[in-house]
Amino acid sequence: MHEMSLMVDVIQLVSDDAKLRDINHISKITMIVGDLSNVLPDALELAFIFLRTQEVTLINETTELELIREEAKAICQSCDHTFTPDYRIALCPRCGLLRAILVSGETFRVESYEGSDRDESEATRRCT
Ligand SMILES: [Zn+2]
Repeated sequence: MHEMSLMVDVIQLVSDDAKLRDINHISKITMIVGDLSNVLPDALELAFIFLRTQEVTLINETTELELIREEAKAICQSCDHTFTPDYRIALCPRCGLLRAILVSGETFRVESYEGSDRDESEATRRCT
């Protein structure tokens, strides 16, 4: 499952960013996962639960992961019909043509994370 290596990368990325901001513990990571991003949210969650017990970087067992699901949406260039495709390439259910472009559902990114700095004050950080 590639979710494990993705999660390792996410934790590393967030930890590197947090260190630059003098944050020494991450309390929560919020991510956006599209239905067509080829990432399974359940597998991602399992990877996270495993990794947070490993005392790697700045997360531990109190760190939470929030996954925000992004629905897949496509618009047909031929008839303007908006629909939910099952795959990246989909036939328009109204006109039957293969002219739909995907407008959402492929996102896989860190939306934000929260952590505390050396003064123990809670801070919310956004990373891009
Ligand atoms: Zn159409």
